[in-house]
Amino acid sequence: MTDVLDQAQQVEEAEREASIALAVAPLKGEGSADCGGCGDPIEALRRAAMPSARRCAECQAARERRAREFRS
Ligand SMILES: [Zn+2]
Repeated sequence: MTDVLDQAQQVEEAEREASIALAVAPLKGEGSADCGGCGDPIEALRRAAMPSARRCAECQAARERRAREFRS
């Protein structure tokens, strides 16, 4: 059940971050093209699947690992 709660929290956080991104960068025309963690371009496939993604898969996974460790 913990995983379900984690996922719900991550969705909530992602939605909050997406709305912040929209407010901060209204002129970009699309989701952030560069990872907010390492600065590398976010894969086009990932952006297509998740337009609000602001980190590459690697940074997002690392961030989720850290979040889990923080709560345990
Ligand atoms: Zn990255």
